[in-house]
Amino acid sequence: DKQYDYLVVGAGLFGAVFAHEAALRGKRVKVIEKRAHVAGNIYTKEVAGIQVHQYGAHIFHTSDREVWNYVNQFAEFNRYTNSPVANYHGHMYNLPFNMNTFSELWGVRTPAEAAAKIAEQKAAAKVSGQPRNLEEQAIALIGTDIYHKLIKGYTEKQWGQKATELPAFIIRRLPVRYTYDNNYFNDTYQGIPIGGYTQIVEKMLAHPEIDVETNTDFFANKAHYLNAYPRVVFTGMIDQFFNYQLGELAYRSLRFETETLPVGNYQGNAVINYTDAETPYTRIIEHKHFEFGKGDPEQTVITREYPANWQRGDEPYYPVNNQTNNSLYKQYAKLAAQEPNVIFGGRLGQYRYYDMHQVIHAALVTVATEFDK
Ligand code: FAD
Repeated sequence: DKQYDYLVVGAGLFGAVFAHEAALRGKRVKVIEKRAHVAGNIYTKEVAGIQVHQYGAHIFHTSDREVWNYVNQFAEFNRYTNSPVANYHGHMYNLPFNMNTFSELWGVRTPAEAAAKIAEQKAAAKVSGQPRNLEEQAIALIGTDIYHKLIKGYTEKQWGQKATELPAFIIRRLPVRYTYDNNYFNDTYQGIPIGGYTQIVEKMLAHPEIDVETNTDFFANKAHYLNAYPRVVFTGMIDQFFNYQLGELAYRSLRFETETLPVGNYQGNAVINYTDAETPYTRIIEHKHFEFGKGDPEQTVITREYPANWQRGDEPYYPVNNQTNNSLYKQYAKLAAQEPNVIFGGRLGQYRYYDMHQVIHAALVTVATEFDK
């Protein structure tokens, strides 16, 4: 191997930011990626002129101006605002819970009328004391109607468990807005990169000091990599790095069913959540609406998203950050601290649900500790 300063395992957002910043500081970086493409879970691919979010809908949002400026170096963002709609047995409700939702549900017109309705339902449900499960917690926060129509089925599908068996802490708060505002996020900046996310990672990695090798799994040659490279940035699964010696960390997985349809506009919104228990998927994404109907006017691409149990070998989408897993992760983090030449980063390396802006921030913090110490 040519002399590299760093091996970066994983060409997702964390690995790409790190590699880019290292190269800017004159370091030589090799990036290996086990998938056939770069960009990790933010990967988008053009189909019929539409950027398809291959691993689930990705909306960039942040209040961190530094992160926003950073990511804007690599793409121009549009003014997309996440405003999902819920379909409950064919009735459509705006999300997040706001005056539009309340008005659709109950015909109320003012914040006072909506608040009175919610208070009335909470009182009728007679929940008091410490909520013992997710169901009690949700009803205590928002009343029975919204719980039954918009939360219960969706949450049970997501976790593959009954709401009465799920811990209350999963929903400590529910975003409730007494304004007619369907914007899901409260962040200052929000948008979708025009032309998709993949270009962001490609531009980060397009540097003469960076070589990228796809279809390459670190574990096929772990000992060699650890020997041959002075420093390793590892963004794969931390438990796998240690050969699961303390046990397995748990994940939720997803199955995506993507279809190209011969219609111009299938559902009129990028994201529609199916909040009943009977529909097996949690949502349908219609990708062209992320870029305002761009692409073939006679075709559209939709993706149904099915939550799935995870087993070793499946794609690990969401860490299950309950107490058991978090304490197991802490044990792995102790092992990680004993690896002087390996940095563990990103959502799999740190076993944390990171949004994109958080992963960029975390990578920039790692860069600062690594180079500016
Ligand atoms: P990844 O993108 O997973 O990158 C890790 C890379 O390492 C992968 O490419 C993997 O193939 C590779 N790898 C792993 N093991 C090995 C190995 N042994 N050898 C070689 N390569 C390896 N964030 C938002 O901000 N907004 C959203 O709307 C949003 N929606 C999301 C929807 C879904 C369904 C999911 C799952 C996530 C969503 N996110 C969203 C989060 C976002 O995807 C992450 O923040 C981001 O992708 C994390 O980047 P990463 O580099 O840490 O991980």
